[in-house]
Amino acid sequence: MTQIFDDPANFADEALDGFVAANRNYVARVDGGVVRCTETPPGQVALVIGGGSGHYPAFAGLVGAGLAAGSACGNMFASPAVGQVYRVAKAAQVGGGVLLSYGNYAGDVLNFGQAEQQLNAEGIETRTVLVTDDIASAPADEQDKRRGIAGDLVVFKIAAAAAEAGYNLDEVERVARKANERTRSLGVAFNGCTLPGAHAPLFSVPAGHMSLGLGIHGEPGISDHPMPTATELAELLVSRLLQDKPADAGKRLVVILNGLGTVKYEELFLLYGKVEALLRAAGLEIVEPECGELVTSLDMSGLSLTLFWLDDELEGYWAAPADTPAYRKGNLAPRAQRSTQEIEVDVVIHEQASGEAVRFGEVAAQALDVVRQVVVMHEESLGQLDAIAGDGDHGIGMLRGADAAADTARRAAKAGAGIREVLTAAGEQWSERAGGTSGALWSAALIGVAKALGNKESYSRDDVVAAVIAMRDAIVDLGKAKLGDKTMVDALIPFTDVFTAACAAGDALPQCLARAAEQASRAAEQTASLSPKKGRARPLAERSVGHPDPGAISYALIMTGLANYFESNFNTRGAQS
Ligand code: ADP
Ligand code: MG
Repeated sequence: MTQIFDDPANFADEALDGFVAANRNYVARVDGGVVRCTETPPGQVALVIGGGSGHYPAFAGLVGAGLAAGSACGNMFASPAVGQVYRVAKAAQVGGGVLLSYGNYAGDVLNFGQAEQQLNAEGIETRTVLVTDDIASAPADEQDKRRGIAGDLVVFKIAAAAAEAGYNLDEVERVARKANERTRSLGVAFNGCTLPGAHAPLFSVPAGHMSLGLGIHGEPGISDHPMPTATELAELLVSRLLQDKPADAGKRLVVILNGLGTVKYEELFLLYGKVEALLRAAGLEIVEPECGELVTSLDMSGLSLTLFWLDDELEGYWAAPADTPAYRKGNLAPRAQRSTQEIEVDVVIHEQASGEAVRFGEVAAQALDVVRQVVVMHEESLGQLDAIAGDGDHGIGMLRGADAAADTARRAAKAGAGIREVLTAAGEQWSERAGGTSGALWSAALIGVAKALGNKESYSRDDVVAAVIAMRDAIVDLGKAKLGDKTMVDALIPFTDVFTAACAAGDALPQCLARAAEQASRAAEQTASLSPKKGRARPLAERSVGHPDPGAISYALIMTGLANYFESNFNTRGAQS
């Protein structure tokens, strides 16, 4: 069981925060993962790794001198999002280009692949080497279809040592590919693993049995076997791996015996002794082996054996020193700490804007800061309201989203972006950080407003009205809720109606906003009498009656906060928004 947490939804994030705190001499937290906090010589290729959380020391534990420059850390067993990979790579790179390396899983390939495109488009040369060592996942003639397991360590170590030796991106990519081509792994599982908050394991293996080749997330194995003795297990793993050895395999090889979670060290050592004896008997020479936990799967009971066939070049890189939280080898001179400014990722402006687009970009960033303050103030009560019939995460979800959006908007505005880009970047961040239904809806709202406003030299009242309507349409189109379904739409539609009517009557924009916000607050309170027809609260509808909808309440609070802000800062008639 994975049992230590407050809220299972925050497990990956909070574990990463604690990891960084405990390893502050090695790593710094960035939005999306971690990067080295020590200096790297300028112009060195940056190895950026990553994947789902739940595999420690993969991946964050392998960040440090002589190994990865950064790690993008997704949710439990889930690929990091494009933006996470992008931001980690930006913060990690030092001018020599980026090599992305990770296990071959569909979600990772999509997200890392898109980040690679973005980085290249910005002039940061980026390549990819997938790790495909698991022989159970596809036949030998389809090595590119195989998934990556403990062979990750081999490919990462070799690529990073080549980077450390001053190789350029072409060369680092070449040796990383060669290392992957010469690496084979095979795993066994004796029992499944349990995701934080789950009541049952993700998969299970019949009692008294072991599953050969079962993936590290419970992907099906090749075959089930009655539980073998240690000698039988060593024979099975070694013989299967030797059958699959690369065409140009020599005599010298690295052996990695990896524990997946609950097979403890002494069991691993016992098995390692038998594996080594078999390999020696086959005439092979073993070089600097590893036996321990290198790529795990939470509390999974299982292990994997990896063989990595060396040549002279690879042997030198395998032996090179490294110093990371979870992997230390040889001696590396201590390195100075990087400054925090260096680690903060600059926002890149894709479109040059001028005139009011830039000025309103600043205003949008300030407005999002107001949104954040409102949400901070009401986080607890929104959470309590959502707990009545929902899952209690509306406060924390809104806080995460608003916080990330405000932060991104500030940085984009500081970099001179126009309002369209400020709001689009903020919207993308909102959903990425918040998750949940409301995160997706607020993200769509900001992006809809950004599209409606565009980047223009000047704006009229009609533009502001169009933006308010675009916000309503984005939320309604995505969520498909109607008036009376007991969602934020019950505050959003009255707000929009009153705002457009007041504008048509010629009132100053801040007054229109104030009147619309008052209407939204009344409407949000009135949702108390409704029974929810959409969202997570629907199955517990009767519990919800008598209490207002959390999403409607947060919407009204935010609009009230914005109305107050605009009234005190922009209280003139005319086109100011
Ligand atoms: P989750 O429901 O994923 O836990 P939150 O708790 O953050 O997300 O948000 C819940 C709120 O989202 C609800 O109170 C409701 O206002 C809003 N909501 C849920 N579904 C919809 C929908 N289809 N359209 C509009 N708003 C919705
Ligand atoms: Mg919720």
